[in-house]
Amino acid sequence: AVETATVPRMPAFDHVPLPYDGPSAAEIARKRAEFLSPSLFHFYSNPLNIVEGKMQYLYDEHGRRYLDAFAGIATVGCGHCHPDVVDAITVQARRLQHSTVLYLNHAIGDFAEALAAKMPGDLKVVFFTNSGTEANELAIMMARLYTGSHDIISLRNSYHGNAAGTMGATAQKNWKFSVVQSGVHHAVNPDPYRGAFGSDADKYVRDVHEVIEFGTTGQVAGFISEAIQGVGGIVEMTPGYLPLAYERVRKAGGLCIADEVQVGFARVGSHFWGFETHGVVPDIVTMAKGIGNGIPLGAVVTTPEIAQVLTRRCYFNTFGGNPLCTAAGLAVLRVLEKEGLQENAHAVGSYLKDRLRALQDKHEIIGDVRGTGFMLGVELVTDRQHKTPAKDEICHAMEHMKGNFLDVFEL
Ligand code: PLP
Repeated sequence: AVETATVPRMPAFDHVPLPYDGPSAAEIARKRAEFLSPSLFHFYSNPLNIVEGKMQYLYDEHGRRYLDAFAGIATVGCGHCHPDVVDAITVQARRLQHSTVLYLNHAIGDFAEALAAKMPGDLKVVFFTNSGTEANELAIMMARLYTGSHDIISLRNSYHGNAAGTMGATAQKNWKFSVVQSGVHHAVNPDPYRGAFGSDADKYVRDVHEVIEFGTTGQVAGFISEAIQGVGGIVEMTPGYLPLAYERVRKAGGLCIADEVQVGFARVGSHFWGFETHGVVPDIVTMAKGIGNGIPLGAVVTTPEIAQVLTRRCYFNTFGGNPLCTAAGLAVLRVLEKEGLQENAHAVGSYLKDRLRALQDKHEIIGDVRGTGFMLGVELVTDRQHKTPAKDEICHAMEHMKGNFLDVFEL
């Protein structure tokens, strides 16, 4: 039987959208077709013209309101245009829009200090980047420099970014440009729903062991994983797997990298970081998306000892740590705390999961309901026993959404 959690209280929402007199959707669509690179447009063949965002809602040119169920691809954790974040950026923009990390500015120092305070153990040295991809590229490079080994292990079905190294670490065919893995080996994904070994953590860790034994010299640079795979379809990890995998990787001299780009920043509700749900402390943590509430910002956090590797070679990033972005980041941390958004993700996420499970009891097409906090997924299948993906039904639903994919819902 499904237990029903207490219905969470929803704050009042009485926003009146701003008047819009800009170009129409048709005009912008014409420009998009002619001047913008067409990647992924087939999923959004007839997209909305989004003219305003306010908290969890988006507005189109006619003032129609939509629930942004994807939160700008797991990015707008405080809500669209949260006033505190807007104010922090505005104040900073009036004073100083750009300065590199080579000079002092208080936004970067304040944010690095506040971020370090959110980390466990000795993780306290921060490197700023502009995206999750860059953060993972840097983390992989640091692991290689620190260990002197080139071999990286990542999990099948993972997504870590779209540059040379991270595309190798990513293990989904749609996101790969070529089969060049740049020293990356993929271990069997410890997916309790579709994984080869069900929920047997020992068998999955045995695979990590075999990858090290048969695919490397026995020494590795590192292991990178998401606490819950995001792009891969909100795929949870078999409980007990991560501590054992970390142990095996460390025995082979490797560093453990937690990719918190999508799961981090209170999204999982029960904890601030996804890795905390597995009871591990990584050596390097990468983050982006929710860190700046939609402002382009990423970061790598590591220990002072590992951070020393970047004194051995030059590492520099023109925009990394830009004061506008770090001012936004600091405001985000404050809003998360002030408004208890982690607790909110836990309460509302538990309620939502509970209700989705109740739907699963009624509808055969729901094969699996998974995830935690606001990192939740529902997998549709045509046959529960064989877990056959419900491809046609999903395509039909996408047509019904008139080419807007399935992440924004009209209210
Ligand atoms: N890592 C994870 C887990 C992600 O979900 C993503 C993006 O979706 C990335 C890395 C890459 O981040 P970005 O798109 O900011 O480069």
